[in-house]
Parts: sequence; structure tokens; C-alpha cells
Amino acid sequence: MDAAIEAQAVSLTKELIAIPSENPTGDEFAMADRMEAFFRDIGLEVMRERVAERRENVTAEITGTGSGPALVFLNHMDTVPAGEGWSRDPFHPTEEEGKIWGRGSCDMKGGIAAGLAAMENLKLRIDGGAKARGTVRCCMVVDEESGVMTGTEAAIAHGHINAEDIVISCEPTELALVTAQKGAMWFELVFHGKSAHAAAPHMGADAIHAASRAVVALQEAVAKLPYEDPLLGRCTMVTSIIEGGHKTNVVSERCAMQIDSRFVPPLRTGDIQQIIHEKAAEACERVNGVEFSLRATIADRPPVTADTGGAGARLIFETLKEILGAEPEPAGVSYYSDAGMAAAQTGSRNCFLLGPGNIEQAHTPDEFIEIDSLKKAARVYGRLLEKFALDENSP
Ligand SMILES: [Zn+2]
Repeated sequence: MDAAIEAQAVSLTKELIAIPSENPTGDEFAMADRMEAFFRDIGLEVMRERVAERRENVTAEITGTGSGPALVFLNHMDTVPAGEGWSRDPFHPTEEEGKIWGRGSCDMKGGIAAGLAAMENLKLRIDGGAKARGTVRCCMVVDEESGVMTGTEAAIAHGHINAEDIVISCEPTELALVTAQKGAMWFELVFHGKSAHAAAPHMGADAIHAASRAVVALQEAVAKLPYEDPLLGRCTMVTSIIEGGHKTNVVSERCAMQIDSRFVPPLRTGDIQQIIHEKAAEACERVNGVEFSLRATIADRPPVTADTGGAGARLIFETLKEILGAEPEPAGVSYYSDAGMAAAQTGSRNCFLLGPGNIEQAHTPDEFIEIDSLKKAARVYGRLLEKFALDENSP
């Protein structure tokens, strides 16, 4: 299997880089067409489900005879925009220095390609007479890079991802098995005051003054939290956007803050919201006449931790050891992903990230993926699908 699966992963990676799917603006239609053609070519039925205008998820599966959970590749078809600063054409993949360069090479068209190569290998084995016991499903979703993950929400709503399923997002983890993801919530905190001439500030209620107290207090409150997770580290909070005021000599009646919070167990989203609420209230007590409103701007994204002793994790660890040699260790990440969303919304404790490439190359100009990493991933996925899906006695 090795040479064929590796070559297919490399050639598909290049082909997919050449199909732009930047988000924003958010148009994965050509990618969806290519995914559909791929699955049909290997003899699978394809479901396409509309998520928004020119945005469709594509799902295909190899259905096993067993009744157990499915193994689901949950992968996003979008990339961040190419942006500035490239020394190469981001949509014309080049192969140099043992790397493939282009937008999405690392995040995550390389991972997608390696997963598809493994899917094709499994289908060829079955066409050659092997018996499929386990069901393997590919959910190709839209809209991960916006952070909102409407594609994964739609895939769950359509029943393609269930609580018992083993879910793998082929995101760049350098083939470490990521079993834990920090919670990642976004909030909008708005202070409402009253405008007045800046020469008579006592006549107004200074929203910017209250907001600035809150910014500092939130930093201090989060730094004092006692929680530290062995894989995830500590909580962070960043006020990433702040808007208020319109004239130098006028007290601002409104100041709006956007807050990004990353947090670890045992904290839940409600705990974080409570901290922000308390600090905002304290700020308002110090600045006469100012009130605040607070709301989450995305769906709930709590910290998720997979069951590292469960059947899914054991099978993946065993395969990693078999293909890569070394004893694999679980890892954690500070960013959220489709797999995190799947775990949060279904309650699954079997959602993982595992893929080729290094996250440091994601979202950068001159993004690349190491060909060696890509080939290893294809072999890992190939073997994993065989072990998961095929009957022991298959040819
Ligand atoms: Zn990604």
C-alpha cells in the first residue's frame, strides 16, 4: 500500500491547493465539486448538503457490516485568505526543498489529501475482496476558518457525526494525537454611558473610562485563576478589539469590546461569562452612570478532552506506534477546531486532531507542508482505516 498511498497524497495535495477556497469570502463550491468527483471515482455515493450560498458539505462513506461506531474524518475545505507577502503563487503549488508550498498546504489540504488517499486504499482493498466491518465516513465541511464552524454544526444536524463515533480532524499536529483542546469563547462587552462636553465631564458618564478599568481587571482576574491543565496549560483572555468615542472634546457614551477567552477544565463557558460579568459590574460601580451589556458572539465552545484510554484512542496510538516507531504521547492545543465543536455538541469523548504539518505554517505567507510528514500521515491513516474497518481474515 505504501508507495501508492504516498504518491496519491502528494498529487492530491497539489491539486487541492490549486482550487482556491478562501474564507472570507467563503466559497468552497469548487472544492466540494472536486470532493464529490473523488468519491464517485472510487465508487462511493455522495451526499451534498447546502449550508449557505455556494457553501455545501460533502459526505461519503464506506459502510461496514458491523453495528459499532463509525470512524469519521471531519475536515474543512476552506482556507484563510492568501493575503500578502508571498514569494510564490499561493494557488500554484510548487515542490522544492522537500516541501509543497501553497495556501492550504498545511491547513489543511495536505491532511485532506492524506485522508482521501487512505479512503481510496481501503475501498481498493474491499473491491479486492476484503470484508468491511467498520464504517468509515468522510465529512468534508465548509466554514471552519471563520471560527463559527457552521459546516460542522450542519454535519451534526444531518446525523453524520454521533456521540459514539471516533472523529479525527486531519489538522496539522505533526502527527501528534491531540486529545485536549482549550475552551475558546468570544464575547462582546459594551459599556453604555452618557455623552457630555469634555470640559464638563461630570455631566456625562464616561464609557471608555469604565471599559479601560474592565480591561485591566479582566487581565488580573484571569492571571489569578488557579487552574492549570497538564496538556493545556493556563487560561488566557485578550481584549482584541475596542471601539468607542467620536470626538476629542466629547465624553464617550459607548465603548464596545470584543474578548477572546481560552480556558481549561474545570471551567465552563458560564464560569468565564461570570468573571467578565463581575469585572464589568465593578468597573461600572467606579464610573458613575455607566451600565454594561454582555453576550457571547459564538456557539458554546467549552474545553474538550478525549478519553485517552478508550478504544478509539488506543487504536490510534497503536497505529502511530506501528507506523512511526516511537511511543506516542497525547497532546493539547489552545485553538479550537471542527473536532472540538463535534465533541462539544455531541458529547463524544472520541474526538481527536491528528495530521501532517506544523501549525506554525498555517495562516502564514509561503505556507508549506513537509512531504515526508504528508507521506507518513497517509500511511498512518491508511493503516488505521484497515485496522478499524477490515475483518481480521480479509485478504
Ligand atoms: Zn485547519
